[in-house]
Amino acid sequence: MTILPVIPTSPDQPDAVKTRRRPTMPPRHLADLDLAARKEAVTTLGEPAFRAKQISTHYFGRLVRDAEAMTDLPAATRARLAGDLLPTLLTPVTELACDDGATRKTLWRLHDGALVESVLMGYPDRVTACVSSQAGCGMACPFCATGQQGLTRNLSIAEIVDQVVYLAGVAASGAVTGSPPRLSRVVFMGMGEPLANYPRVIEAVRRLIAPAPEGLGLSQRHITVSTVGLVPAMRRLIAEELSVTLALSLHAPDDDLRDELVPVNQRWKVAEVLDAAFDYAAQTGRRISIEYALIRDVNDQPWRADLLGRLLRGKLAHVNLIPLNPTPGSKWDASPKPVEREFVRRLREAGVATTVRDTRGREIDGACGQLAASEVTEAGAGGAATIAEVAQ
Ligand code: SAH
Repeated sequence: MTILPVIPTSPDQPDAVKTRRRPTMPPRHLADLDLAARKEAVTTLGEPAFRAKQISTHYFGRLVRDAEAMTDLPAATRARLAGDLLPTLLTPVTELACDDGATRKTLWRLHDGALVESVLMGYPDRVTACVSSQAGCGMACPFCATGQQGLTRNLSIAEIVDQVVYLAGVAASGAVTGSPPRLSRVVFMGMGEPLANYPRVIEAVRRLIAPAPEGLGLSQRHITVSTVGLVPAMRRLIAEELSVTLALSLHAPDDDLRDELVPVNQRWKVAEVLDAAFDYAAQTGRRISIEYALIRDVNDQPWRADLLGRLLRGKLAHVNLIPLNPTPGSKWDASPKPVEREFVRRLREAGVATTVRDTRGREIDGACGQLAASEVTEAGAGGAATIAEVAQ
C-alpha cells in the first residue's frame, strides 16, 4: 500500500473544517445544472451565454475542475465563475494506492465536514470508478461498514459527478498503471444507498451519459446502480427508460435471513424485490446482477444456493458472489473457498450464470469495508478473468 501525497486543492477550505459541522447541502456547482441552466446561470452573472459551453468543455471535456486553470477565460470571469459555479466540493483527506497503482482510494471531506470515499480501479482493458451517493447510509445492513454509521446526508448531484470527473482526470493522466488512460465505467457501490437519494442520483447519471460538453459522454451500459431493493424507487427507475445496469444486493434467497442481513427486506420481501428487478431487466433487455456476499455459516449453505438457483433459473440475471470483507469487530467472516466453490457449482448447475468477485483493493479497504474490489473473475480452477457487466 502506498499513501499518496494529498495535494491541497482547496484554498477556500481551511483546516478549521476538520471539525464536523451540521450536515448541509453544498453550494451550487456547474455539474448540478444541465447546459440550458448553465447558460442561464452565466448570463445572470453578467457573462455571455457562450461561457456556459466554454466552462463545460473545460470541466467535462478536459476534466479541469479548477477555474484558475481555465486560462483562456479573462481573470475577472474566472473569479466570478469560480465563486458561483465552481466551488470546491471535495477536499482530499487521504489517497491510498495498492495493486501496483492499479487501485486507488480517495477519502474526501465535503464542505460541511462529512467524509465520503471513491475508488478508482484499473484493469488491462478498462478503468472503473466506484463512487458514493450519500455520506453514511441509512440501510443498516449489519455486515457493511457504512451501514453501521447511519446516514449523515445525501450527496448533491455535483458532489457525485465531481468524484467521477476527478477520477476521470486521474485516469487521463496515465496514473493508473497498466490501464487505458480513460475512465469508462462507473459503479454506484461506494457509500450510501443510491436509490434513497433518487432524484440526485438519476440527474448525476444523466450528467455522466450526456455527450460533452454537457456531460462526460459515458455509455449507460457501463454505469451500474446498486440497490438494497427499494421497490418503489426501482419501479420509478423502470419508468425513466434509462438502460443503466441494475445490481440488486440480495445476500439471502429467503425472507427470514434477508430480514436480518438487509433490514429493508422487512418492508419489501424477496419475491417483491426480485419481481421489480426482473421487470427492470425486461424493460431494458439488460441482465441484472444479483449481489451476494458469502458469509461463513450464515448464508453459504448448499440449500440456499439451490433456492437461489430456483429463484433465478431462466431469468435475465446473473449472480455476483462477493467474498465477505469482514468489517472491524464483526463476528462474521468470508466463507471458506471449498464452500464458495460448492455454492458456485450449484448455481451453475441450476443454469444461473455466476461469477466471484476478486478481492482487489482489500489492502486499502480497511476503513470502509465495502469499497473492496470491483470486477469479478470466473470462479473455479483455472478460470480466466472475465469481464462482468457489474462491479462493486
Ligand atoms: N447501498 C447499495 C450500494 C453500496 S454497497 C447496495 O447495498 O447495493 C455495494 C455492495 O457492497 C453491496 O452489494 C453491499 O451489500 C456490498 N457490501 C457491503 N459491505 C460488504 C462487506 N463487508 N463485504 C462484502 N460486500 C459488502
